[in-house]
Amino acid sequence: MEDCIFCKIVNRELPGEIVYEDDRVLAFLDIHPKAPIHLLLVPKSHLASIQNEGSEDVAGELVSAAKHIAKEKGLSSYKLVFNVGREAGQTVNHLHLHLLSGGPSELTI
Ligand SMILES: [Zn+2]
Repeated sequence: MEDCIFCKIVNRELPGEIVYEDDRVLAFLDIHPKAPIHLLLVPKSHLASIQNEGSEDVAGELVSAAKHIAKEKGLSSYKLVFNVGREAGQTVNHLHLHLLSGGPSELTI
């Protein structure tokens, strides 16, 4: 999708600190980290929101990738967060999963 910053990171049209990639999912560092480790996991195919049709399968793939990354990085404790809607903090309309670790438990995202 044009003018979507996460699609541009997926397509390497914008830089991103990419930490994980497979056929369906890309993970990179959040540029405004709210925890010592703060990753964003996105589907490579554009999907706006958890509210969209078919998001359950995509969400499952993101969670699966998050578990893989956490295991690989030795994270035993972390948060996985989907923000849905602008008022809840979703600032980019490309579905993404936050993975946060190593910070205080009262994090707001
Ligand atoms: Zn997109």
